[in-house]
Amino acid sequence: EAEPGPGAIPRIKLVLLGDSGVGKSCLVLRYVRGQFDPSSKVTVGAAFMSHSVNLPDGTTVKFEIWDTAGQERYASLAPLYYRGASAAAVVYDISSGESFQKAKHWVSELQKNASGNIAIILVGNKSDLTEQREVTTEAGQEYAERNSMLFIETSAKTAANVAAIFDTVAMKLAGNGV
Ligand code: GDP
Ligand code: MG
Repeated sequence: EAEPGPGAIPRIKLVLLGDSGVGKSCLVLRYVRGQFDPSSKVTVGAAFMSHSVNLPDGTTVKFEIWDTAGQERYASLAPLYYRGASAAAVVYDISSGESFQKAKHWVSELQKNASGNIAIILVGNKSDLTEQREVTTEAGQEYAERNSMLFIETSAKTAANVAAIFDTVAMKLAGNGV
C-alpha cells in the first residue's frame, strides 16, 4: 500500500469480525450515520463504508471499514478482508457467552494469519442489556490483556463508547499510547 503523500489524510483499513447477530453492522451504522435501526438486515458477504474522523489529539484519519458477515458459510472469505488490514475489531455480544467463544476463535485466526502488527480491539457490544449479561467485563478485559489487545464495551443502541472504538484504534496506531 502506498504511503500517504504530504498533507494527505492517513487511511486506516479496519475489519469487523464476530458471530452473526452481535451487532457489527449496527456499530458501523451508529458510527458513520449516527443511527440505530433495530430491524437492520443481515450482512451478505461484506459491506464497505468510509468515515473521516478528527481524533482527540487534533489529527484527522480516514477509516475504511469492512463489515463482514459472521455466518460460517462466509468464514472462508474473511482473510480477503483482514489481510492488509491495519486494525481488526473482534465483536461479541455481552449477553451471549457463545459469541464470546466465537470471538476467541477469531482472535486465534488473526494471530495465526493476519499481519503481525495488526491492532486488535475486542469489543463487547450490547452493554445496554445489563439484565441478560453472560460475559463479565472482567472476563473480556482479562482475555484482551492476555492477548495484547485493546478492549471496550459498547452499545450500538445507546451509542455508548461506539466512537471510542475508532478513536482508541487510531490513537494506538498513531503510537499515542492508550
Ligand atoms: P451483525 O450480524 O453482527 O451485523 O449484527 P446486526 O448489526 O445485524 O445486529 C443484530 C441484532 O442485534 C439486531 O436485531 C440489532 O437490533 C441488535 N443490536 C445490535 N447492537 C445492539 C446493541 O448495542 N444493543 C441491543 N440491545 N441490541 C443491539
Ligand atoms: Mg451484519
